[in-house]
Amino acid sequence: MKSSKDAVKTAAKEFLQFANKGVSPYHVVEECKRLLLGAGFIELKESEQWDIKPSSKYFVTRNYSSIIAFAVGGRYLPGNGFSMIGAHTDSPCLRVKPRSKKTMQGFLQVAVECYGGGIWNTWFDRDLTIAGRVMVRSGDKLVQRLVHIPRPILRVPHLAIHLQRDINDSFGPNKEHHLVPILATAIQEELETGCASTGNASGANTTAEKHQSVLVKLLCSELSVEPDALLDFELCLADTQPGALGGLYEEFIYSPRLDNLHSCYCALRGLVESCVGDSLANDPNIRMITLYDNEEVGSESAQGAQSNLTELILSRLASSPGNLTAFQQAAPLSFMISADMAHALHPNYQEKHDDNHKPAFHKGPVIKFNSNQRYATTAVTASIVREIAARVCVPLQDMMVRNDSPCGTTIGPILAARLGIPVLDIGAPQLAMHSIREMCCTSGVLQSTELFKGFFELYPTVRSMVIVD
Ligand code: ZN
Repeated sequence: MKSSKDAVKTAAKEFLQFANKGVSPYHVVEECKRLLLGAGFIELKESEQWDIKPSSKYFVTRNYSSIIAFAVGGRYLPGNGFSMIGAHTDSPCLRVKPRSKKTMQGFLQVAVECYGGGIWNTWFDRDLTIAGRVMVRSGDKLVQRLVHIPRPILRVPHLAIHLQRDINDSFGPNKEHHLVPILATAIQEELETGCASTGNASGANTTAEKHQSVLVKLLCSELSVEPDALLDFELCLADTQPGALGGLYEEFIYSPRLDNLHSCYCALRGLVESCVGDSLANDPNIRMITLYDNEEVGSESAQGAQSNLTELILSRLASSPGNLTAFQQAAPLSFMISADMAHALHPNYQEKHDDNHKPAFHKGPVIKFNSNQRYATTAVTASIVREIAARVCVPLQDMMVRNDSPCGTTIGPILAARLGIPVLDIGAPQLAMHSIREMCCTSGVLQSTELFKGFFELYPTVRSMVIVD
């Protein structure tokens, strides 16, 4: 691919803005909405009737943590295919428990729940904050508000090495006892407010009593509400250190949530950019991105990839009084790219990779294969994407885990099974997956975006070349 160094860096920096804003799945959806509205997409509600027009662009959210955006080809007819890219909006993190108040040995602490399979060791000694959504009573309405405290207020300190000499041999924190962040001390609270917090939340009756009062006060001042207006919340902990370019040549991205905001961003950019020229007007398909919450915990939720969300949207778009089997006809003409990050070869752990499958930085998105259906790629779906990648000059890599290694999985097999649509699993190479601060290469953003844009523009043509009889 002959992209200039400047274009690579610009794309990586634009992605970083997205990743830095995407501190919770709700903030990811908020940012996607903002970008889509700016690109002329129209918001729809699942609960309303839709009047979908050719050459028009729309999006719909569910639970405000999953979002589906689509652009209708100018030549779309019910029964034609869907060109889709799926990814996930959630990342492993610590989340504030529903009754989080804990006061231990003069420390005001906030009890947290582990969400997903994080490398929890990496959450120690980081400058943490909270972000997510709060339900507040506003007059006679129960309203969702997003909140993101922009300064470090929480920390989980390591125990000094002098008190645990074996820490470098084996460090596995107890997830209940050792991961409780510190918010303040009782001494300082007394100085500031004249009264110090004590005890826990076991006897709490109101939402405000379930949490440290200083935390409640902070949330209320951010939201400009009174404590009795707080109903409930879903708050993620997040690192306050923004993602950044790094390495001597600034060829790396160091950032939280690369898995999977990298794929969300590139899918969204690919869709938006594919609609800029006149290719949408000639497209017989609907171009779609589906960004789901709850992948990190198995996708089984009302807004997850296992839900009926995708099927309901696709069948609604395919429905036609004149063709009652339009949705069934559309499935084999459709295609989903399941976009999720891939494990690049780690130079210090080379033995973890199969000699012939060693994804490298800068060498392109990685097609993931697994006959045991941890990934959904088939020879047919790989051939289609190889043809598209060749046409848009994006290099590709292949990945299969060793037979003696565990393997991750993605939304790919779930959606392939639920929808009966051919799926390809692919992702940009990264290191330190599920660490609080991950690492990938800058060129991956532009490569993935170009590939996804090319997919939306070229899939119907390439699909018409395929003969599998
Ligand atoms: Zn992922």
